[in-house]
Amino acid sequence: MGIEPFDPQFDANWLKKGLAGRKVSIKQALLAGDVVVGAGNIYASESLFRARIHPKTQATRVSLARCERLVASLQQTLTDALESGGSTLRDYVNATGEAGAYFTLHAAVYEREGEPCKVCATPIKRIVQGQRATYFCPSCQKV
Ligand SMILES: [Zn+2]
Repeated sequence: MGIEPFDPQFDANWLKKGLAGRKVSIKQALLAGDVVVGAGNIYASESLFRARIHPKTQATRVSLARCERLVASLQQTLTDALESGGSTLRDYVNATGEAGAYFTLHAAVYEREGEPCKVCATPIKRIVQGQRATYFCPSCQKV
């Protein structure tokens, strides 16, 4: 069972260990919920963008340094969402990854296909992974 993003145990080593041996992309590994809980579809897309990790990157190939960035991004994205008015994790990241108010207003990539990246102005791309839409910046996010 995964742990919450603010659990003191949740760090780069935990994430790296949780990704070991998985034959899926990092995006799908996050959504699976058995490494970190609550990472819904939108939250996962936004956190990967902040960490500059391409969503198709094989889970096993995410280095420890990138795990560190991803842990920080998951925590920061959640902090921002909570500060903008929510009281619980579930307000923002429910099981189906529905948009909370925060993501509707502030999404950097989610549902922004074709719109300019807020960092580099490259058009945002949309792909489907495990039947879920993923949005990312092909320039900022590297495999
Ligand atoms: Zn970009």
